[in-house]
Amino acid sequence: MNWTDIVGHVDNIKMLRYMESRGRMPHAVLLSGPRGIGKFMVARVLSTALLCKAPESRPCGSCQSCLQMANGTQPDFLNIGPDGANIKIEQIRNLQNEVALAPYVSLRRVCIINEAELMTVQAANSLLKVLEEPVGDVVFILIAANKQMLLPTIISRCMAIEFQPLTDTVLTEALVDKGFLHDQSEVAARLSRGRMGTALSLLEPEGLAVRNQAVEIIQDLLEGSVRKVWDIATILEKMERKDILQLLGYFTYIMRDTLMIVTGQDRSFLFNVDLADWLSGHAGRWSEEHLLQGIRAVETAGRALNANANARLTGEALLIKIYDLVKEV
Ligand SMILES: [Zn+2]
Repeated sequence: MNWTDIVGHVDNIKMLRYMESRGRMPHAVLLSGPRGIGKFMVARVLSTALLCKAPESRPCGSCQSCLQMANGTQPDFLNIGPDGANIKIEQIRNLQNEVALAPYVSLRRVCIINEAELMTVQAANSLLKVLEEPVGDVVFILIAANKQMLLPTIISRCMAIEFQPLTDTVLTEALVDKGFLHDQSEVAARLSRGRMGTALSLLEPEGLAVRNQAVEIIQDLLEGSVRKVWDIATILEKMERKDILQLLGYFTYIMRDTLMIVTGQDRSFLFNVDLADWLSGHAGRWSEEHLLQGIRAVETAGRALNANANARLTGEALLIKIYDLVKEV
């Protein structure tokens, strides 16, 4: 894994490479931005470069440290993340003890703290002490999807670097480079909203199964059999909460795409580019107002499910709402 393997994030990578190659790496950096867009991969390559023993063009991929990084045995590389729901104070204390020791192989130590926003307050305060009084040569790389959840005192101790999702075009091209068909890549790029990891999972054989299930459900509701509502609710009852939330996400995309068509936007704005004909075919069944109501109803159901509401009852209420909306037109 090297810098050139990373798709996008060109400016951030340029800056990190500059700082690394000139020996100007700050003591702590915070990589923040939405989940699944490649922050960890950047952190990992940066760590490899910082530990690499080659005189230039790091990471070299062939020194002792680079080889150890590749097989997961580099003793100067520390990588922690949540243990259960949180990063606990014991984990930070262990880290503190570890970084106080001299490096084994490289000139310094590097420590990735993944999902840093999940540190308990005690853990965060403990880390703060380490950041305030650095011991030895160590670089901390904090990764966070929700930067605002971190203590401001932690953020102020780090050089903060924001990551944005990849654009549709960059991600589509990258997927095509990986050997996927252009049309499929385009759908995956859009539905993933610029997240490489998500796009790749959508491109797996069953990757679009949940999206297609959402399409089928909307189609059933459009066909107007109220019996279907109960059938679907029974299916929802058996699904895991996270899968239902994913399904709801696709309801939103479908309605949002329909809204694009109803309001006469160009098809190139669709998330579900492959469904353009199906979407246009039923667009006449919805009014702009009904679609907005539908999108709001899905959001409400999502919030209820996140607050542990009963999946069947919440699902039923939502399906009836959507059913009523398409019936009225
Ligand atoms: Zn190397």
